[in-house]
Parts: sequence; C-alpha cells; structure tokens
Amino acid sequence: MAFEGLTTRLQNVFGKLKGRGKVSEDDVNEAMREVRLALLEADVNFKVVKDFIAKVKEQATGIEVQKSFTPAMVIIDIVNKELTELMGGTQEKLAKANKPPTVILMAGLQGAGKTTLTGKLAKLLQSQNHKPLLVAGDIYRPAAIKQLQVLGEQIGAQVFTLGDKISPVEIAKQGVQLAKDQGNDYVLIDTAGRLQIDEELMQEIKDIHAAVKPDEVLLVVDAMTGQEAVNVAKSFHEQLALTGVVLTKLDGDTRGGAALSVKAVTGCPIKFASTGEKIDQLEPFHPDRMASRILG
Ligand code: GDP
Repeated sequence: MAFEGLTTRLQNVFGKLKGRGKVSEDDVNEAMREVRLALLEADVNFKVVKDFIAKVKEQATGIEVQKSFTPAMVIIDIVNKELTELMGGTQEKLAKANKPPTVILMAGLQGAGKTTLTGKLAKLLQSQNHKPLLVAGDIYRPAAIKQLQVLGEQIGAQVFTLGDKISPVEIAKQGVQLAKDQGNDYVLIDTAGRLQIDEELMQEIKDIHAAVKPDEVLLVVDAMTGQEAVNVAKSFHEQLALTGVVLTKLDGDTRGGAALSVKAVTGCPIKFASTGEKIDQLEPFHPDRMASRILG
C-alpha cells in the first residue's frame, strides 16, 4: 500500500518524542529535521516541504514550556492538522451543473487510468441513482473504445462511440447532445492520453473543452510517478483550467509525494483516489483520513 515508508519513518520520529516525558526545543528541532527528510524521501516537492515544516515549527515553538503532559501528542496533532491542510483540508465534491447534464472531461497521460476511472465513476454515480452516459473519445489508443464498452456492459451503462475515424471534438459534442435528448444527467468523456509537450493533442482537448464546456475537468494522475505527477499536473493546469485531480494506483507502493504535493502546487483539489483495478475501487478523497493513515 502507498505511504508505507513515510508512515514507518514518521512513527519512528514520533516514537522517540513520545519516549521523552519533557520535550526540549532541541528535541522539536531534531524531530522536524527528521520529518523534513522523511517527506523529501517520500518524494514530496521541495518547496512544499519547506513551507510545511515552517508552519509546523511555528506552532510547535514553545510547546516544551507549555504545561502539556504529552508534548509529543501536541506536536503529532499539529503535523496531522497541517498534513490535512496540505492535501486540501476538506473533501471536495464532484461539480454539478445547474441544468443537467453535468459534463465531466477526463484528461491525463496515457496509462494514467482515465478509461478505468470513467467506468468507476459511472458506477459510483449509478449507485447514487444517476444515469451517466460514457463517451468514447480516445480514438488513438488501440482497444480504448472496446475497453470502455466492456466497462459499460459490466455496469449496465450506455457507451457512445462513433468509432475511431471521427474527430473526438465531434464525438464529444454529439455525446453531450445525445445525453440531453435521452435525459442522462451525467456525461463522462474519456479522452486520449497526451503529453503536455504534444501540442496537437493538447490543442485537441482544448477544442473538446471549448465545444462542450465541461463542468468538471478531472486530471487523472498516476500516483506511482511521484514528483513527475506533480509536474504533469502543473503543466496541464496551465493549459486546461483543471477543476480536480484524481490520484490513481494508490494501492501500489507509491511513496506518496504526489498526494502530498499536487494540491499545494496546482491549487486543484484531489477529488477521488483510485486504489485498484477493480471497478469499485474508487473512493472520494478525504484529506483528514489520508493524513491519519499517513501518520499510522
Ligand atoms: P488510460 O490510458 O489513462 O485510459 O489508462 P487505463 O484506464 O487503460 O489504465 C492503465 C492501466 O492501469 C490498466 O491496466 C488499469 O487496470 C490500471 N489501473 C488503473 N487504475 C488503477 C489503480 O488505481 N490501481 C492499479 N493497481 N491499477 C490501475
């Protein structure tokens, strides 16, 4: 599972502090040095770590002179609170259009998990009594359309495709129109994986964006790619005005840097976490729960 290394290291740091009845300023400084190293080793963005440590230190200063019986616990509380803030504070819900359908556009690199997420999100919406329409907008990856159709069949959701010869902009437009005509209240548009340096494909998703004016643009980010995931998020955000991030593959042995940096670096909330290949392995992302999990 994700964060194992970070959790172990933080537990060691706080274990040492808890072992001391009284905590001196030197103890706090030493602990903060170790927390800093642990975060850097977990691949958290350098600047994010710097700001984080400064905030915790500011609050922890003077802890040793407070008449706290358990200064270590006070410090752990501060770290917990700041970790939660770092990841966005509160759970951010999926956008909802004033007038249905709510249009959701998936963006991200190839292999990040967009098609899988499209199926998972549709299933989640169905469980809340919504009626999503899936739109097969990835016409470049062989088998992407089929993959979405298989997912649609599995969950009993309609998949709209025009094959792989029609432009994805047209497919997206017609998909949204069909949803309006049929009364689907959500449209999930799968798109091709693209590199931010691939100008043609980047332009294409911008054109889709302009054509269907999505209520939600979700960047699907593979958490396993660590620091790189944050760079990808940053440059997508500059080009495409993202409204949310979905972290995938949190079940792998990711060091956690992406989860801990992406909100701070892009300002985009993490809305969901994907924790496996199965269709129901998707959860709303709760910063507080994630912080508690990281602290172990
Ligand atoms: P796309 O190219 O962005 O559409 O990526 P896909 O949806 O095809 O996913 C790429 C691979 O990652 C597939 O083998 C998926 O089964 C796998 N995958 C997607 N999400 C997760 C996840 O949360 N955990 C794990 N372990 N695998 C995932």
